[in-house]
Order: sequence, then C-alpha cells, then structure tokens
Amino acid sequence: MAIAIEKDVCIGCGACVGACPVSIIEVEDVAIITDEASCIECGSCVDACPVSAITL
Ligand code: SF4
Ligand code: SF4
Repeated sequence: MAIAIEKDVCIGCGACVGACPVSIIEVEDVAIITDEASCIECGSCVDACPVSAITL
C-alpha cells in the first residue's frame, strides 16, 4: 500500500495536514506528502479530507 493524493481533486484546504500524526503532509497549491517512507498508514488524512482526494 502507498498513500496517494489526487492532485486534480485536492482543494488545498489543509485538513489533512493537522490530521497526520507524523506531520508528513504539507500544502502548497495542493497537498503533498513530504516523506512517504514515514507514513504509518493510519488513515487519519483519508478520514479528514472533505473531497476524498487521498487514498491508501
Ligand atoms: S495515513 Fe496517517 S501517517 Fe500516513 S500521511 Fe495519512 S495521516 Fe499521515
Ligand atoms: S484534506 Fe484533502 S482537499 Fe484538503 S488539503 Fe488535504 S488532500 Fe487536499
């Protein structure tokens, strides 16, 4: 499994940034994963995203 953010769907709201317990998401225009290897696949960002742009 791998975390993936659909850039055409993301609205850049930042909800996933605060939801991530290991702080690996940043928002520029859209959300990006800064350190994919550190993702613990907890699913918090998936649950936090209002437009379902993130998949695990
Ligand atoms: S699944 Fe969890 S650890 Fe991985 S990016 Fe999302 S919130 Fe962060
Ligand atoms: S919560 Fe969803 S829409 Fe908001 S910045 Fe994160 S990926 Fe984009």
